[in-house]
Amino acid sequence: MKIFDALNFGIQYLKSHVSEPRLEAEGLLSFALGVEREYIIVNRDKEISEDIFERYKGLLDLRISGMPYQYIVGKKHFMGLIFKVSPKVLIPRNDTEILVEEVLKRLKKSDVVLDIGTGSGAIAVSIAKYKDVKVYALDISDDALSVARDNAYENGVLDKIVFLKSDLFSSVPKDVKFDVIVSNPPYIRSGDIDKLQEEVKKEPKIALDGGEDGLLFYRNIVRDSKGYIKRGGIIAFEVGYDEAFDVSQILLDGGYGDIEIVKDLQGIDRVVLGKWLGP
Ligand code: GLN
Repeated sequence: MKIFDALNFGIQYLKSHVSEPRLEAEGLLSFALGVEREYIIVNRDKEISEDIFERYKGLLDLRISGMPYQYIVGKKHFMGLIFKVSPKVLIPRNDTEILVEEVLKRLKKSDVVLDIGTGSGAIAVSIAKYKDVKVYALDISDDALSVARDNAYENGVLDKIVFLKSDLFSSVPKDVKFDVIVSNPPYIRSGDIDKLQEEVKKEPKIALDGGEDGLLFYRNIVRDSKGYIKRGGIIAFEVGYDEAFDVSQILLDGGYGDIEIVKDLQGIDRVVLGKWLGP
């Protein structure tokens, strides 16, 4: 079978299941072949072996079963960088780039940044890559920390990030103070987890479940940030589609002010920032 025919087969196979069947068929076929996408685009008339076709068909079946594309190929582009992902970490979302951009805008040289619930490390690694700062990256999951460390290494910023296994602030040294605390915590209401898309259900529940009202981690992070945030320091949160108001209130009640809300690519309030007004 020629690459051209295999691609058309894949597109037909995926058509009623995914929104970008051509892109995904190309990606899965190049993954099965162990080549870059460009190769299959310029070699449409090359023959592929029966073995490769079977492998490709296996990947298409996995995809149709609801496995996210990024878990199958094991990577996701974020902030112009490539991140390894596995089902042990949430797949970085394009909207989360807005959170990173808002943080980058506000950082000064030598600032110290804390990323709570780093997951794949997408936020921490991007910040370390684009600014001359030191980053502490926390996660409660050893598996996530291992993925995040790999991503820091692959992107050349391992020496700028301290990774800590930590339940929120539990392992953060008491004498370290932060200019910016950033987090994309789990924020889906527990009762809504069952209603998520099949693909999202393949992602770690621990990275999604924000407790009964979805706001548990915002409350706990704001409460525990005292003693760790510098005077004038900033908290930057990603929030769920209807949570910006409640999260702003949590920040205000917790001694933060100068609240700013930034919309995502779809016009939904997605990032909430507050400045620490205490000592
Ligand atoms: N943005 C994720 C979603 O779309 C949720 C991520 C989170 O809970 N932080 O499902």
